[in-house]
Amino acid sequence: QLSMRLEKVASFIPNGARVADIGSDHAYLPCYLAKQGRITSAIAGEVVEGPYKSAKRQVEATGLQDMIEVRLGDGLEVLEPGEADCITIAGMGGVLISEILEAGKNKLDGVNRLILQPNVGANSVREWLYRNGWELIDEEILEEDGKIYEILVAETGDPLAPYHDELELGLIFGPFLLKRKEAAFLKKWSLEKENWRRVLSQLDNAQPSREVDWKKQELAGKIRKVEEVLAK
Ligand code: SAM
Repeated sequence: QLSMRLEKVASFIPNGARVADIGSDHAYLPCYLAKQGRITSAIAGEVVEGPYKSAKRQVEATGLQDMIEVRLGDGLEVLEPGEADCITIAGMGGVLISEILEAGKNKLDGVNRLILQPNVGANSVREWLYRNGWELIDEEILEEDGKIYEILVAETGDPLAPYHDELELGLIFGPFLLKRKEAAFLKKWSLEKENWRRVLSQLDNAQPSREVDWKKQELAGKIRKVEEVLAK
């Protein structure tokens, strides 16, 4: 039984894809896709020995060794150029996902779809995509077990296309999510706002300094932006 989060990630993988799942942990995602006959092949990449072994065990236990290869290595380093046409990176911070993509840029030739699921910091991922010729083509937001997750889907194309004239807000909130304003989206940003409010009121009690002032201004600006978006 796959989590709702990974099932959503899976739903964006084109049929017959040659997938690379980076940071695969137990390789649940590639095993699920292979079992369903949805993909041609998969590479499950892991940088940490323990999860790498779990992934290997899982693939062997499900008898999918012919379709899924588990490789130990950092990010896209485990790939040869042209081996995968679809890459998934899920369940990590957005900064780490962007770093993995940046470090592995030369492995992206022949890849036509990226499905990225940052736990936090989706803005870093959107920025990386925007700066590197990838067009965000869809987004999802969902809540599972009290956590809110975002999924970003990109293809090579026109990076500016989804943003129209709202690049700044779009990079932060997600152009598709911003348009749809689903319940999970509203909840995520209300929670963020409450959190910033709390920090702001703590700073009111802090020893005054320039840094504290800057931080307060920054937080107030973020709160204002979220209020604008939520009120629209
Ligand atoms: N992708 C799975 C999911 O979404 O359920 C597992 C997520 S797990 C929280 C993150 C995994 O990414 C860990 O197993 C970690 O070892 C791996 N990881 C972190 N940095 C990595 C990197 N640079 N290259 C490959 N794997 C990495």
